[in-house]
Amino acid sequence: MKTSIVVCGSGIVGLASALALARRGQQVALLGPRATFALANPEHYQPRVYAISPASQKFLASIGVWDLLPAARLTRVEAMEVFGDGDGHLNLSAWQNALPELAWIIEASEIERALVQAVQIFGLTWINEKFVSYAPGVLTTDSGTTLEADLFVAADGAQSALRTAAGLAVDIRPYGVTALVAHLDAERAHLGTALQWFSADGVLALLPMPDTASGHQVSMVWSLKTELAQTLLALPEEARSRELSARLAQASAGRLGALSLRSPVFSFPLTLNQSAMIGDGLALAGDAAHRLHPLAGQGLNLGLGDVECLVDCVAGREPFRTPGDPMVLRRYRRARAEPVMAMRCVTDGLHRLFDVQSAPVAWLRNVGMNLVDRLPFIKRQLIGGASR
Ligand SMILES: Cc1cc2nc3c(=O)[nH]c(=O)nc-3n(C[C@H](O)[C@H](O)[C@H](O)COP(=O)(O)OP(=O)(O)OC[C@H]3O[C@@H](n4cnc5c(N)ncnc54)[C@H](O)[C@@H]3O)c2cc1C
Repeated sequence: MKTSIVVCGSGIVGLASALALARRGQQVALLGPRATFALANPEHYQPRVYAISPASQKFLASIGVWDLLPAARLTRVEAMEVFGDGDGHLNLSAWQNALPELAWIIEASEIERALVQAVQIFGLTWINEKFVSYAPGVLTTDSGTTLEADLFVAADGAQSALRTAAGLAVDIRPYGVTALVAHLDAERAHLGTALQWFSADGVLALLPMPDTASGHQVSMVWSLKTELAQTLLALPEEARSRELSARLAQASAGRLGALSLRSPVFSFPLTLNQSAMIGDGLALAGDAAHRLHPLAGQGLNLGLGDVECLVDCVAGREPFRTPGDPMVLRRYRRARAEPVMAMRCVTDGLHRLFDVQSAPVAWLRNVGMNLVDRLPFIKRQLIGGASR
């Protein structure tokens, strides 16, 4: 088969890339396994949820996907409270910047379902197979089908096989930290506030979710030193549940009252990854290009930023250039360099700042947080950054 562009990977970044390129008049085929989604159950929420920034929300709306998301599964984040490991405290509210919300919380499966629906409505060519080998200009799938294209987009995730086959190097730095992810029943209402605590053990985030029949619900992302995370995961189910509730009550200082597991616990070892964004006739997007610590909830948002930029570079090229023209690809690389580097520095920098256990550094970071909390101008800049 011959086409202009092949997008490899059917996660959120791959689906969004293929759809956005097709909507801008590009001839595109999508390659990747087609997942099926059970109908959403009002009492059951998928464990992977994302904080979607206003910029990503606008982009998803522009490709006709936002309106396909069920309103009942979306939660507005109207404020954020961040606590240091001393008396540091930072409070960011949407109203301080005259914004309706800082972000939205939604299950990954709901975004994927909406994207799949939009891709089907659009009638996009979807090859339900996996990539196995690649040479510039031609890719082979696991059934032996060959796909020829001028541009290949690697959106096949952090382990990107297409990136490896194309010989692009990737710098992978393990954090020695594992994120534990689960949904919790909370005794008190979250009031649309995302809460985050930095401590010697790691970073705990409680994200607002829709209420259920059992009461208030939050999503937990707890990035813990891997040794501690493994110890908790190795406990028998009941003991793990008890231990987590006790540790959560302590780590969150009882802010939402008693917290108890309402879903299984999932774990994600965290790494900081960076690859070259382009190769010969190849563009990388999403986790295939970069992976971050999730403490700012920005990995997918950065990936959707890649997609928006790539589509602008490809669709806005001069008529005499092809989509995989080196100039088009270099423009993409140049445009993404600053936002990717900035987000990498912020997330990695925050992780490092709170990882240092020396008393003067601990004092300084908590004083710094309290100082920022009293400076409306700096806070407005931070809110602008957090909601981008
Ligand atoms: C604990 C945690 C919390 C997070 N929270 C947030 C958050 O709140 N907000 C946020 O913005 N980001 C968040 N992130 C980051 C986010 O999860 C990732 O950035 C995002 O999932 C990347 O999407 P992707 O489509 O690039 O990759 P993936 O989701 O990994 O998708 C890759 C796709 O490629 C397909 N594929 C793989 N191999 C092949 C092959 N050989 N051939 C064809 N297809 C293939 C796979 O089937 C899959 O569909 C979080 C991450 C973690 C670990």
